[in-house]
Amino acid sequence: MIKIKNLTHYYNNDKAIDDISLNINSGEFISFIGESGSGKSTLLSILSTLLKPTSGDVYFNNLNYTDILNIDKFRKENIGFIFQFHYLINYLTVKENIKLANKRVKDEEIKNLLSTLGIENLIDKYPNEISGGQRQRVAIARALINNPKVIFADEPTGNLDSNNSLKVFKLFKKLSKKGTTIIVATHDKNLAKMANKIYELKDGKIDEKII
Ligand code: ADP
Ligand code: ADP
Repeated sequence: MIKIKNLTHYYNNDKAIDDISLNINSGEFISFIGESGSGKSTLLSILSTLLKPTSGDVYFNNLNYTDILNIDKFRKENIGFIFQFHYLINYLTVKENIKLANKRVKDEEIKNLLSTLGIENLIDKYPNEISGGQRQRVAIARALINNPKVIFADEPTGNLDSNNSLKVFKLFKKLSKKGTTIIVATHDKNLAKMANKIYELKDGKIDEKII
């Protein structure tokens, strides 16, 4: 589904990604682990179309990223993003925050999704009325509402306790079993183990395939 060919990225003269080639199949759950600075965020930014690489190619179902005509449309139709710091809007309710991703989505669908995440009772709350773990789950709901084909999550549990972190990874597992491709960057080796495949990055290279 995602084909990465000789991907290299420099920030000025610093090489952050060093000639990575990799194929990711539809429905796979992949974890990238590695020390801070190993290139995880840069790789995810490139794969999720947020950053143009210095050289090399990325294909999504054989479509080269450089040939995408309408990037906003492409992202809306295909990609869900989850970051460590979720950007919920404080003056909008949980429901309104989720509607930012899709104006036409029915309340019923939002309720069903929130219920899967165990937070259906929070639908009309404001972000400052709920806990950090609950806010993270709202951000995840917002990433999922359009049924993206692939979800990119960069340190999605960075500000969660271990219990909530595990819940998030269990949800990823469940989604991947239903066919959603999940690509996560994490420094947490234990959580990473819930994926089908783990790749360790070192100095911008895939150092080791662990599973
Ligand atoms: P990780 O996510 O594994 O911590 P990053 O992809 O953030 O790794 O960083 C890889 C390398 O690229 C590091 O050496 C980092 O300092 C550098 N880097 C990351 N972002 C930038 C940036 N915006 N400008 C310059 N250098 C950057
Ligand atoms: P989490 O691990 O999900 O972040 P916390 O330990 O922070 O949860 O909170 C436990 C419970 O306390 C939550 O289920 C939530 O109902 C409540 N809570 C936490 N923070 C807040 C807050 N800022 N405002 C209102 N309720 C909160």
